[in-house]
Amino acid sequence: FEYTFEDPSLVDNRCFVNGQWVTAASKKSFPVHDPVDDAVVCLVPDLSVAEVRDAIKAAEDAFQIFRKVPHRDRRFMLRRWGDLIKAARNDLAALCTIELGKPFSESLGTVAYGIDYLDWFESECERIYGETIPAYRRGTRIMTVREPQGVVAAITPWNSPVAMITRKAGAAIAAGNTVVLKPAPETPLCAIAMAKLFERAGFPAGVLSVITCSPESTPTIGEELCNNKLVKHLSFTGSTAVGKILNTQCARHIKKTSLELGGNAPFIVFEDANIDSAVDGMILSKFRSSGQTCVCANRIFIHEQIYDEFANRLKTRVAETIRPSASVWDPKSNFGPLYAGKGVEKVQRHVDDAVSRGAKVILGGKADHNYGPNFYPPTIITGSKSNMLFCQEETFGPVACLIPFSTQEEVIRMANDTDVGLAGYLFTENINTLWDVAEALQVGMVGCRVGLVSACEQPFSGVKESGLGIEGSSHALKEYTNIKSITLGGL
Ligand code: ADP
Repeated sequence: FEYTFEDPSLVDNRCFVNGQWVTAASKKSFPVHDPVDDAVVCLVPDLSVAEVRDAIKAAEDAFQIFRKVPHRDRRFMLRRWGDLIKAARNDLAALCTIELGKPFSESLGTVAYGIDYLDWFESECERIYGETIPAYRRGTRIMTVREPQGVVAAITPWNSPVAMITRKAGAAIAAGNTVVLKPAPETPLCAIAMAKLFERAGFPAGVLSVITCSPESTPTIGEELCNNKLVKHLSFTGSTAVGKILNTQCARHIKKTSLELGGNAPFIVFEDANIDSAVDGMILSKFRSSGQTCVCANRIFIHEQIYDEFANRLKTRVAETIRPSASVWDPKSNFGPLYAGKGVEKVQRHVDDAVSRGAKVILGGKADHNYGPNFYPPTIITGSKSNMLFCQEETFGPVACLIPFSTQEEVIRMANDTDVGLAGYLFTENINTLWDVAEALQVGMVGCRVGLVSACEQPFSGVKESGLGIEGSSHALKEYTNIKSITLGGL
């Protein structure tokens, strides 16, 4: 690679279980690929159910110690972890580039975003307050305390391999829980490096374990995480299809779940919008991470009066601002390949479907192998309609299909005509339209005149089939605590 690690010891291919670095007793492993050329980077352990069970037991034992660690001491450990991550940010970004194919400059951004969450949760550690409640019955007082839940199992996706860990494990550990983390099989190396830094931060053994397993054994390991009675909370980010399986499995044991699932974000530009800022907001929302985030604009509704102008300006601006490169290490590059061939196939299916139903490609529209096997260029499609495949399922790629609309009622109806509701965006200069539409959209997060809706200090959540629970913000810590009410009598 065109990168020399500052701390080569962060590059490891073992799991971290109960403070030990381990491989699978069976010697089974599975490959991690570089999306740039599909080459095998290394092999990581394919742990067995029994080994995962041991990790859960170790996390439960660690919880019995960790739950008694005072909050400020937890805070200082988290701070040390955060400081170590900051110091290792280049190496972590490099691992992200290697296993995800993200351009290095974009990887640095995603690591910084991940660090934000730890900084936030670290300070929130000290504010896990209870309340006192006026009691009706004489001689009694009521108060509440917030207690950690126990072992949290976290299953993370490949698209943000550092931030998904700090967002889940950061909040859970800040609240006093212990965590067994299973990263996506595509991106285990960032998780392993994060565990290395965690070890150095001085937490008791077993507070965070990182387990890896192959795609083939993932469903069985997933079942263990859902069925094991020592696991008190399952936190998952990924597809709605897998979220439904996990939620069903957890329901058998009345296990708490936090689910951050797929979106199908509407992005609405009204006729009075500032077109330049709408175009820039759309590029940020649609083409960041090559379109592979769950809050990416997916259904783009443009008012018919400005439709052609918007499409033309978008095409010009994409050419000006999106910079793919022959090398993902080129510091000027801000656009890389998709994570795997599966991603390219899905994107092409959506483009072909739109074209077969009469839409027109005005930019891109075909995988470009000059940049490697998984590169798909920024694509703009006009004449799109809401019966096309991309409206039914998230594209998760750099394809902007523009749908014309004529009235506010019509666009709200189309925007809400989906089973999911994560992010939504709107651009207008009219304050009444802004409030009306922001309130009418059935989503958890609305961006008004911005293309970015996520930050550590704000709640990240979905409605409908986009999930359960809240990540980020002070609400996140509440997800990882139980409220206990204590009634005091005889007063
Ligand atoms: P994607 O299709 O983008 O990879 P998934 O929802 O399949 O999204 O994957 C997100 C995470 O869920 C990954 O860590 C993956 O290994 C894990 N996963 C997939 N299927 C299961 C399952 N049946 N049980 C537990 N985890 C699963």
